[in-house]
Amino acid sequence: MHECPVCEAEVTISADPVEGELLECEECGIELEILALDPITLGEAPDAEEDWGE
Ligand SMILES: [Zn+2]
Repeated sequence: MHECPVCEAEVTISADPVEGELLECEECGIELEILALDPITLGEAPDAEEDWGE
């Protein structure tokens, strides 16, 4: 099990994750990116920027 870095909800990752893979948190809807595989590290995908207004 992995946690969304934003809302800490459980995030499901595919059985064969790839570094740089994008997925969406079902709880807060943010787009996440797999930053590293060992251990699996999740971060916000860069695409989220357009909502920040800067
Ligand atoms: Zn979330």
